[in-house]
Amino acid sequence: MVARAARATDLADLDGAITDCFACPRLVDWREEVARTRRAAFRDQDYWGRPVPGFGAPDNRAGRGGAGPPATGPGPASEARIAILGLAPAAHGGNRTGRVFTGDRSGDVLFAALHRAGLANQPTSVAADDGLTLAGVRIFAAVRCAPPDNKPTPAERDTCAPWVHREVALIRPTLRVVVALGAFAWAAWWPVLRQVYGVRPPSPRPVFGHGAHWSGSAAPDLLGCYHVSQQNTFTGRLTTQMLDDVFARAKQLAGVD
Ligand code: SF4
Repeated sequence: MVARAARATDLADLDGAITDCFACPRLVDWREEVARTRRAAFRDQDYWGRPVPGFGAPDNRAGRGGAGPPATGPGPASEARIAILGLAPAAHGGNRTGRVFTGDRSGDVLFAALHRAGLANQPTSVAADDGLTLAGVRIFAAVRCAPPDNKPTPAERDTCAPWVHREVALIRPTLRVVVALGAFAWAAWWPVLRQVYGVRPPSPRPVFGHGAHWSGSAAPDLLGCYHVSQQNTFTGRLTTQMLDDVFARAKQLAGVD
């Protein structure tokens, strides 16, 4: 799996390899069990039940649903200048629809914010073939399979890391800013620095917080953002304004209009 990730020639090749990964027995069992049993509200749907690859610029290709068009012609909008790094797919969201942050309440909040920021062509994300395209943004998770209780183990995070490393390597020429959604994603970024950029992570590690900003000369800027989970948005820990401020800052740092 490590070797397969390293030799992925482009994002489409990487996506194909990710969706065929069975490296974590616990997560494979869980993603497939959820897909078999299904939630009552989605009983008539055919769950994806596999790893969920990244989505967005430059190809807007979903793991399920095929290739979409670039958001615009050549320029910053069709380049992955901003990456959004999440935790893992939701059992009845990405694990159901086959596209990251698609079909759940977290995705509703995230894509509405991206649309307000001018980074998405529509405010909703309900299915892999719903016409959504992102401009200047690519989204992927630190762990590509839905974990029980949304809690991957450290070992599963480390096992899945080569997929993140390769995805970042493939968009490295255009990538300027990474928005880490939550402390788990924030922590998952530091090994990328070493593996992809050959940069020694800062020590001690900068502490995660909403609006936290780390800047390194030979790597993308890192911005912290509270996760768009219902736990944060329903309680007011993460407000619409806080989310908008982070994406405004990301656009500014990335040179995306
Ligand atoms: S979590 Fe990552 S490494 Fe583990 S099975 Fe899923 S895609 Fe493979």
